[in-house]
Amino acid sequence: MNGIVAIDGPAASGKSTVARRVALALDALYVDSGAVYRGITWAALERGVDVYDSEAVMRMLGLLSMRFSACDGAVGFTVDGAAPGNAIRTHAVNHAVSPIAAMPGVRIQVVTWLREMVALGPLVMEGRDIGTAVFPDTPHKFYLDALPEERARRRHREMAESQSPLDEAAVGASLKRRDLIDSSRKMDPLQVAPNAHRIDSTSMCADDVVAAVLAAIEGEG
Ligand code: C5P
Repeated sequence: MNGIVAIDGPAASGKSTVARRVALALDALYVDSGAVYRGITWAALERGVDVYDSEAVMRMLGLLSMRFSACDGAVGFTVDGAAPGNAIRTHAVNHAVSPIAAMPGVRIQVVTWLREMVALGPLVMEGRDIGTAVFPDTPHKFYLDALPEERARRRHREMAESQSPLDEAAVGASLKRRDLIDSSRKMDPLQVAPNAHRIDSTSMCADDVVAAVLAAIEGEG
């Protein structure tokens, strides 16, 4: 596989786990495109920028230095020289990221960065618009989904490991809010690319999803 594998889907549909493992199997780089939107959101919150004011967010973005590089099988980034790490996964970032990702200027910039990553090698990129807007010409497109209750359960379990105070219902409500903003925004909303393989992972384990993705890619040559 010499090109791009695009894996899209709603929050907590299992994209990251699957995309990481597919990248490892194909000796490609894993790209978490959501992390880039989270990095911008984190920077805005850190600087006290109003995350609902697109002009203020765009002014900040123009001054921000985001640098991308490959490390340990994935593409990582720094913001003004610092790697934000888990700071991009707080409740505050979860809450503010979808409004920021709905801003057209933010999307234009992030899509440009994501496309430039092809220079780093073959990529397995996960997100919301990879197969529809970032790399619409790749033959390897997937849309992962799972029932909302199952996604809330998985995300709550993950968050409980980091001692999150949110209960499962609150996690479910937060995912629902984000999915709604992501799928109803004007520019590049979350949707299934016309020729994507749809996989409902509600009752599948990650091994099965990874095997299904790899088999489809092999079939596509
Ligand atoms: O993948 P993750 O849930 O970390 O993404 C965080 C947010 O970033 C999403 O809820 C969405 O608003 C935005 N996003 C996007 N387009 C992508 C990836 C993420 O709009 N390709």
